[in-house]
Amino acid sequence: MNAPNKSGWKPAMEAAEEGGVRGPVTTTGNRALMLEEPLLFEIGHAETTGVDLPPIGEGTSPRLGGFERSDPIGLVGLTEPETVRHYTRLSRQNYGIDLGFFPLGSCTMKHNPRLNEKLARLPGFADIHPLAPQSSVQGALEVIDELATWLKTLTGMPAVAMSPKAGAHGELCGILAIRAAHTAAGNPREVVLVPESAHGTNPATAAFAGYKVDNIPATPEGRVDVEALKARLGPDVAAVMITNPNTCGLFETDFRTIADAVHEVGGYVYCDGANFNAIVGRVRPGDLGVDAMHINLHKTFSTPHGGGGPGSGPVVFSEALAPFAPLPYVEKDATGELHIVEEENTDEEHQTFGRMTVFHGQMGMFTRALTYMLSHGADGLKQVAEDAVLNANYILRSLEDILHAPFADSGPCMHEALFGDKDFGGGLSTLDLAKGLIDEGYHPMTVYFPLVVHGAMLVEPTETESKASIDQFITAFRSVTERALAGDESLKQAPYYAPRRRLDETAAARKPRLTWETPEG
Ligand SMILES: *Cc1c(COP(=O)(O)O)cnc(C)c1O
Repeated sequence: MNAPNKSGWKPAMEAAEEGGVRGPVTTTGNRALMLEEPLLFEIGHAETTGVDLPPIGEGTSPRLGGFERSDPIGLVGLTEPETVRHYTRLSRQNYGIDLGFFPLGSCTMKHNPRLNEKLARLPGFADIHPLAPQSSVQGALEVIDELATWLKTLTGMPAVAMSPKAGAHGELCGILAIRAAHTAAGNPREVVLVPESAHGTNPATAAFAGYKVDNIPATPEGRVDVEALKARLGPDVAAVMITNPNTCGLFETDFRTIADAVHEVGGYVYCDGANFNAIVGRVRPGDLGVDAMHINLHKTFSTPHGGGGPGSGPVVFSEALAPFAPLPYVEKDATGELHIVEEENTDEEHQTFGRMTVFHGQMGMFTRALTYMLSHGADGLKQVAEDAVLNANYILRSLEDILHAPFADSGPCMHEALFGDKDFGGGLSTLDLAKGLIDEGYHPMTVYFPLVVHGAMLVEPTETESKASIDQFITAFRSVTERALAGDESLKQAPYYAPRRRLDETAAARKPRLTWETPEG
């Protein structure tokens, strides 16, 4: 089945040999059931097809007029079993939450209850079209409306835009609404303030919306430096973007003070709500003075995410920003019938900045998120936050004796535990530790983020892990950390047991090879 190695990759076994793992080099490159998998182009042949179609009969002409193709397009053909095996093998090289603990900080990689999947697959939700007559999809619109009500209630905010398709897309939606509000008041302003611990999407969003970005420093305790922020405020500041709980895993205890100061100079407060999992059911961002906040349904509300999608990032708005929310939105009329509002409307209450997407948003994500909310109930969601925070603190306190825990003295963390590198021996770094965890069977935690902590390691267990699985992770993490402290050089070659070994991460980002070429050409 495996074609000769045409593209220069090294079979895992050969690579493992180089790294000092002993064992026979197999002819296929396979290691028992860990199978090597070439590209489709390397397995298939242009002359092969997977199906036998009867030849086109004499005298029949293709119906494409003069447009039928005269040259082969060079796509390879495979048999059905070859195709199925190819994708199944690739899927086995993937790591996912269904395979093991996925402690990727800031990403809230939690278990996705199968009940969500079951409901999302109901034909009444899965098979409808966004242009279907509205009277025929009242149930689906009801899901959107009900989910919107939950989001407004949980955040204490009066309006929500459901259409943004990810957290970063939601940020853009929020900042565009802020820009529209300032513009309506006569001046869009110039600057958005972003703390130095912010997720990279925050400054990117502000710049994309045409703003200059100014950094606000953090205090040694890992929170926004309120005095520095106040000193920077002025009539040029359109908004601040603050993540709460922040990416150091801490609650911004001065949030209300910050919001009041920003409002005083006529600015708006954007909250990055990616970490809502830590406070859902316990804190309503509306009470803290937030004007706009995205919610990653695919984080807090369990719908699957990763690899770029699918995601959903609804944005809640304050009274002041609600008129500027994007189209389209779902509205209930006096008779209880639901409608999708598509038209621009330019009265006081409707000054929309435009739209983020063509249609209403990610129906599959909406159904999953609402299922998750209804199955937990309001009390259950509160417990989600409490358990997520408990689990993170358990990890923090279990590892602070051997890792640098920069903010451990600031009190309990929220839903993620932040560590920094320590005096690892032999020039070993956070990266080596992360790679060592792969050999232990774990997806590594987030590394080198946030930037304010040297060699940062951000660990987020979420509430869905049992004590047993967290204990096992702590044991593995301790063991790899002890090896790093002892300067165990073998960590520099880790991972040994993954389908691929150390990749050149700089070249992968700077010089990606995105097309396949035949070896000859
Ligand atoms: C995940 C995340 C984002 C971006 O969300 P996407 O859905 O990935 O676009 C923004 N900010 C923080 C803090 C995040 O963790």
